[in-house]
Amino acid sequence: MITMVEIPEELEQLKRFHGHLGPFVLIGYRMGTIARKKLEGKIEAVVFTGTKVPLSCIIDGIQFSSSCTLGKGNISIQEKEDAEAHFVSDTNLIEIKLRDEVRRRIESTCNRDVEEVMALGLFSEPEATLFNITSVETTPFERTVKLR
Ligand SMILES: [Zn+2]
Repeated sequence: MITMVEIPEELEQLKRFHGHLGPFVLIGYRMGTIARKKLEGKIEAVVFTGTKVPLSCIIDGIQFSSSCTLGKGNISIQEKEDAEAHFVSDTNLIEIKLRDEVRRRIESTCNRDVEEVMALGLFSEPEATLFNITSVETTPFERTVKLR
């Protein structure tokens, strides 16, 4: 039996942008959305996923929702294999880390047949159950150091 999944318009656009809709691009999308909501003005992102799929799908989700893009040079990637991203504005630094148990849940159960259903589930989960989020005020000097 084929289960038809109703996908909201914003996620249809994310799917077109990224090529498929899976849990990690959705996680990146949520991270970028949180950063946009909490930070004002121009922001820069550092993403710690490395560039290996599927974890690196997070990068595309962040580019889609945060408007930090490789082309503009306001996102950089660290080769750490961590599901974590940092965002800085002129005044604040926010660190967003996918909770370990959520990452394990994704990695142990995701496959092509269920990835859209999983993504939709993660779309509606409260951010507090998905992420550990810390936010601090920063000085310009501290921001420069944090981004290196
Ligand atoms: Zn992907």
